[in-house]
Amino acid sequence: MFMLVIRKIFCIGVLAVMAAPAMSQGRAGFGGPQAKNRGNGLCVLTSTPLQDLDNAEITGLMHMREEEKIARDIYQTLYSTWGDRIFQRISQSEQQHMNAIGVLLDRYELEDPVAGNGVGEFSSAEMQTMYRDLVAMGQRSHIDALKVGAMIEDLDLFDLKEALALTDNDDITMVYENLMRGSQNHMRAFAGRLETLGESYAPRHISDRELAEILASGNASGAGSAGRGRRARQGMFGNGVRQRSGNTVTQ
Ligand code: ZN
Ligand code: ZN
Repeated sequence: MFMLVIRKIFCIGVLAVMAAPAMSQGRAGFGGPQAKNRGNGLCVLTSTPLQDLDNAEITGLMHMREEEKIARDIYQTLYSTWGDRIFQRISQSEQQHMNAIGVLLDRYELEDPVAGNGVGEFSSAEMQTMYRDLVAMGQRSHIDALKVGAMIEDLDLFDLKEALALTDNDDITMVYENLMRGSQNHMRAFAGRLETLGESYAPRHISDRELAEILASGNASGAGSAGRGRRARQGMFGNGVRQRSGNTVTQ
């Protein structure tokens, strides 16, 4: 038990610093020929024995890899539309989420479903349609864009929970739990911004009660919370406050 705790702390730390190399590679390096650099695999590779992988776990990994990409891509696109830094910051966090799943794909020697796909390009038709529809919705207005953000986190939280229930592997569980904490932070950021603009978000995937619990709790630590420690996490939310009061958001 003690060792497990130590290992978790170590791994979360490694996941948190994954952002740096990934960001400097830029978009082009991601999923391309250098896909071996999908993340720093040291943590899970060295600290947990390789466990069997069944079909449900493979499907879950493939789906979550694409879902983290759709989040990253939509936030990038909505950042260029609205110039609201909330999208920029959270898209950087989604890059870390993609990397974390990438570590697992490498570890289990699975093919990367998004290899070679640029921003807004998806292998699955379902994801491609979802990207198109959500970007169109998010480009209608700044409020709609924030609602799209909350919708994506809503779906992500729901799917992560489902994927978690379908795995008994320690490394996959560790990554999914970390991503869930990130998604909870993102949900608080989007829902918080909507609230200050006199709007609210009604969940479509998770329950009202789950959303209320997330909004009532504080920031969860994890790779998704901007990944650069406490100061960066506070910065993400502090930034949102400044933008609200300073009216710097393009309407
Ligand atoms: Zn995510
Ligand atoms: Zn997210």
